[in-house]
Amino acid sequence: AAKNMGGNKAIVFNEQLSKLDQERSKLESRLRKAIEQEKIEVYYQPKIDVSSGIIFGAEALVRWQDDDFGFISPEQFIPIAEETELIHPLWELVMKKACQQVKGWNIHRSEPLSISVNFSARQFQDPGNMVKQVKDILAESGLGYENFEIEITESILLTNSKEIVQALETLKGLGISISIDDFGTGYSSLSYLKNLPIDSLKIDKSFIQDINKDFGNAEISEVIINLARSLHLNVIAEGVEKEYQKDFLLSKNCVQMQGYLFSKPLNKNDFEQFLQNEG
Ligand code: C2E
Ligand code: MG
Ligand code: MG
Ligand code: MG
Repeated sequence: AAKNMGGNKAIVFNEQLSKLDQERSKLESRLRKAIEQEKIEVYYQPKIDVSSGIIFGAEALVRWQDDDFGFISPEQFIPIAEETELIHPLWELVMKKACQQVKGWNIHRSEPLSISVNFSARQFQDPGNMVKQVKDILAESGLGYENFEIEITESILLTNSKEIVQALETLKGLGISISIDDFGTGYSSLSYLKNLPIDSLKIDKSFIQDINKDFGNAEISEVIINLARSLHLNVIAEGVEKEYQKDFLLSKNCVQMQGYLFSKPLNKNDFEQFLQNEG
């Protein structure tokens, strides 16, 4: 129809938009089905204390392989899940699988692993209920609170909601750790670092990537490491791919790292294999 209108741009645009809409709603219904059928997998990326070589934890990262679409990145489907209510059952599924799995691994370990799960802002819509769900899922899996960590972004803290702060304090009170993901990329307000029950800062991978080329990135990483130290917070670097990045971080006394240099996110069998080679 648009062709006959002699280049009416608005109509062409609308047609393209509705194509995108169709693609999106198809993706949404496939995602819904995948969640219902529990065809969602959890991958695990090791978190390593480079000073000792100990794998002290793992981050749970959701994976979805669709029969038609193939592999779809969480960068693509998490926003769709967030715009619908799907983020809730998706989160529950990741939580259950990850906690159960890590509890199983910890039975055989002298140093138990800590599992980190990414919490979307939508998880904090009903903070009281979320806390209850966390308690229930951990109780069911048998995983200890001290072996569980949540990763949240700065945007959640900026809402400054009393209910959210209370929920974080309750989680913290149970012994759960709270980590700020992608630290330095959001609208950071330093005051929340002293007022909120935060345990750990995770330096965003964008700062780590060009650490040797870009003077600013090295400076920012160092500032975050020093900030964490001053406030008695833990600090971990994500996206470590190269030896020189590791060496830089070690020279600044940041010993906790995560990244392709050590391992990609792995499925449960490959992660088990990775644990065997620890040392
Ligand atoms: P994130 O939480 O910041 O996770 C780090 C991302 O960096 C992951 O991408 C990971 O695979 C990737 N990564 C790890 N090491 C390296 C490295 O050395 N180099 C590079 N270039 N990348 C590395 P992934 O798995 O595609 O996840 C992307 C984002 O999607 C996550 O960022 C997180 O925000 C979100 N996400 C993933 N799983 C979940 C989930 O279960 N729930 C929620 N709400 N969000 C999730
Ligand atoms: Mg994360
Ligand atoms: Mg991150
Ligand atoms: Mg991210």
